[in-house]
Amino acid sequence: MKLGWLTVVASILAGAMLFFTPSVTEAQEDAHASILLYHHVSDSTPRVTSVTADELREHLTYLKDNDFTVIDIRDAIAAAQGRKEIPEKSVVITFDDAYQNIYTNGWPILKEFDVPWTLFVTTDPIGQTPGQYMSWDQIRDLHNDGVVIANHSLDHAHLPRRADFANEQAWLQRMRENILDAEAKIKEEVGVSYKLFAYPYGEYDAVLADLVAELGFIGFGQHSGGFSQHSDFRAIPRFAAAGMYANLGTLGTKMAALGMPVLETHIEDTLLDHEDTRPILKLKLDTSDFHRNQLNCFIRSHPHAPQWHDEQTFSVQADEPIGIGRQRYNCTVPSISRPGRFYWYSVQWIRPDQQGSWPD
Ligand SMILES: [Zn+2]
Repeated sequence: MKLGWLTVVASILAGAMLFFTPSVTEAQEDAHASILLYHHVSDSTPRVTSVTADELREHLTYLKDNDFTVIDIRDAIAAAQGRKEIPEKSVVITFDDAYQNIYTNGWPILKEFDVPWTLFVTTDPIGQTPGQYMSWDQIRDLHNDGVVIANHSLDHAHLPRRADFANEQAWLQRMRENILDAEAKIKEEVGVSYKLFAYPYGEYDAVLADLVAELGFIGFGQHSGGFSQHSDFRAIPRFAAAGMYANLGTLGTKMAALGMPVLETHIEDTLLDHEDTRPILKLKLDTSDFHRNQLNCFIRSHPHAPQWHDEQTFSVQADEPIGIGRQRYNCTVPSISRPGRFYWYSVQWIRPDQQGSWPD
């Protein structure tokens, strides 16, 4: 790592167990939710981050027809923390970036289905680019209608990138300001501060995740996975539901995903060195509700056999060098007690180029 002493100290303090797992009592172990991530609701915006109004309606119809309950993001968190009960098939709906088309095209449909949802707002563009982003007046309309207004940074920067900063300390100070100033702006304009933070591009590393926790926030990524007590509350997974992922053939399975019962996560960091082309994911799992030989891992859509080290611990590694930028490993395994549903875990790595940068 070329990240300076702060990262080194943080890594030493955290030891091998960089990512903690919260513990709750037996009775609350069964709360699972899938969090869906949307951006645009439009047929004229980039397909990769868009659903059409018809697709959004199809998704909501599917949820309704298949006994899912769309719940408030705060209830999902409370359930995962063992403070609340939620329905067996719970889904959370989130939108990032506060595009105008969410207000114009998405909101009427969400109202029609009467479902709670959350908007993660990048605050700087609000009011600066009418037509593309909502205004604060419009965001207040949503708030007054019960929408959870949450934090998606000031400027949608690639946060883990150190390249533009003099040193690690200057970078970390800016990260602190970025999160806290955006939260203060939302508080000023909308009057709420839920301390929910979605990383731009879903990009985080060990130091950022620790900062989010230190500031008292709960963090959300853009990597796949079910959400449960075993999730990392500094980077809760969300399933992309737009573009090629809007297809209900695959999205339906994700909506019913279960949080992987992770007991320990052994990862050096999600931000890699440029030279680190084949990162190792090693997890210790509670294996009591699945058959170990049914665990499948995928890297760039290619199956990779997990290597079991003992009854509960496996590792998996790319068999070829991964590319520059965001790269994900996904692992799934069917539940024994809930037939047809899958435990789902994903890790998102960031591999920089030689200049410490990577594409959008
Ligand atoms: Zn975003």
